[in-house]
Amino acid sequence: MRKKKLTIDVLTIFPEMIPGYADASLLGRAQRAGILKITTHDLRTWTHDRHKTVDDRPYGGGPGMVMKVAPFHEALIALKLRTKKGTKTAAGKKARVILSSAKGKPFTQAAAKRLAKYDRLVFLCGRYEGVDERVAKKLVDEEISIGPYVLTGGELPALVMIDAIARLRPGVVGKEASLREESHATPGELEYPQYTRPESYLGWKVPKQLLTGHHADIAAWRKKFMRGANGTSI
Ligand code: SAM
Repeated sequence: MRKKKLTIDVLTIFPEMIPGYADASLLGRAQRAGILKITTHDLRTWTHDRHKTVDDRPYGGGPGMVMKVAPFHEALIALKLRTKKGTKTAAGKKARVILSSAKGKPFTQAAAKRLAKYDRLVFLCGRYEGVDERVAKKLVDEEISIGPYVLTGGELPALVMIDAIARLRPGVVGKEASLREESHATPGELEYPQYTRPESYLGWKVPKQLLTGHHADIAAWRKKFMRGANGTSI
């Protein structure tokens, strides 16, 4: 059966930041196989002045600049996800538009699983002091943070989310069994320790239970050494 394609658009003022990661390794292979398509758009395409201005001073004063609502809105119109009046189109109803934001709800493996069910995702990357609040309120479906810290822009968060989501799509990771047994596949559980050759390195030995070839013993050892996300044995 033909695997359904996941189409992703990234809106950013630094489009050169995305393809280096998105076109390499598993994501690159998935794109070449036609099951993933990541398109990066320069947000300045949707400006109308000589300087291609995407930001302005904050109302009420304060440091730095804030990204304007109009370029994001016009980009979503060009992607056929919003009308000129700001309402969703039919395509927009099926897609998920995500704003990367230090103020958003936390990104988790459960969120990656949920978002991997969509066939169209759009990531909006902020810069400067952030984005005009009307983008979060009127134009996006979700405002997501990748962790409790502040980065200079939304491009790394978009790539982090894209990577975690795309690898859950059929055909992206070669061996799908590895998705079932990995950390966070079951909330709160971390994968057992992994070893490879040589059996001994500087006298640091691989646990002997893993060398027996007995599947039941190995499974029991692995179960014993799986850890709860707080570091305890579960
Ligand atoms: N002034 C904002 C605040 O205090 O929340 C921070 C703005 S940050 C310097 C610029 C942009 O980086 C944000 O608009 C967002 O797109 C992105 N960003 C920064 N930290 C992030 C995080 N932890 N998760 C997701 N996006 C983040």
